[in-house]
Amino acid sequence: MTETKYCNRCGRALDIWDVQEDLTIHKENLGYGTKYDGDSIHLQFCCDCMEQLIEECAICPITESDSVNTYERSDKQNEC
Ligand SMILES: [Zn+2]
Repeated sequence: MTETKYCNRCGRALDIWDVQEDLTIHKENLGYGTKYDGDSIHLQFCCDCMEQLIEECAICPITESDSVNTYERSDKQNEC
């Protein structure tokens, strides 16, 4: 068993589905574009937070697949 991971946004412990999705941003040495210049970022989201972030986007970042994963979509109630 690996160490417990947490969603950076809501603080909830990630379940097996969240970990499987691996909704992460990892980057070393951020540049001058942010106030975190020179720092590193290790960001991880749970599925709920990722869905909320996607819905807040002005430009939808989702590319819908054809029919391959439709059964998973209905199970998890994705609707972007
Ligand atoms: Zn979360």
